Amino acid sequence: MTKKIKKLVIGNWKMNPETVLEAKKIVSEVKKYTKNIKKTQIVLCPPFVYLSPLSGSVSNKVFLGAQNAFYETAGPYTGEVSFNQLHQFKTSLVIIGHSERRNMGETDEIINKKVISVVNEGMTAVLCVGEKEHDHNGEYLAFVKNQIVLGLKDITKKLVDHIVIAYEPIWAIGAKEAMNPREVHEMGIFIKKILKDMYGLLSDSIRIIYGGAVNEFNTEDIIKGGFVHGFLVGRESLKPKNFSEIIKIVDKTN
Ligand code: PEP
Repeated sequence: MTKKIKKLVIGNWKMNPETVLEAKKIVSEVKKYTKNIKKTQIVLCPPFVYLSPLSGSVSNKVFLGAQNAFYETAGPYTGEVSFNQLHQFKTSLVIIGHSERRNMGETDEIINKKVISVVNEGMTAVLCVGEKEHDHNGEYLAFVKNQIVLGLKDITKKLVDHIVIAYEPIWAIGAKEAMNPREVHEMGIFIKKILKDMYGLLSDSIRIIYGGAVNEFNTEDIIKGGFVHGFLVGRESLKPKNFSEIIKIVDKTN
């Protein structure tokens, strides 16, 4: 029997907002608008510097996550922040390998080290994968498969409960239109098959979420037609009302 797993909506604030006051306001508004949410996990990922001031605002509904971290625990790594340092600020989840970080030179090897450090710290690693181009020869399939296989190298079956795969086609990130639900569904099936080949798991054991131009208007179609376990949301996660609408729609489809 397939076990029922919680849906997940993550807000990736990127390098926003400009002040800690605004950050606090977003958290308190999201909490207010989502107080009736029962079945969906909500995680807000602010910039590092806001994690400490926001750590007092987490609840049993709205959690904090980070957008990145370094794989060593301490030492001479100027400018880096380690996973265990983050964990002290009630950070439950870390986004790893976002395309914007890959674009700054983060390799699959570095990403894999980070995934291993996150799960060893007992947190959830959200491994971001996705192609630059949705070419007609299907080369994007091998590309995404490679990112998953390399990103999860040495992650044993015992640890996969701590993994979420965020499928984010790069061409849809920051775009006007999201991927269409049928294609999201196809990619979901493809990713499940890769995970099954790696771990022999029941298909729903690792959550697969979608990211790329999600908004309150396309959420219902993507969650119902794409059969994903939730979303990684960029721009709309900075607008508490819109973000909360997305969460409410996801919660209803549980
Ligand atoms: C993202 O950056 O991960 C993202 C999905 O952005 P947006 O929702 O703005 O497309």
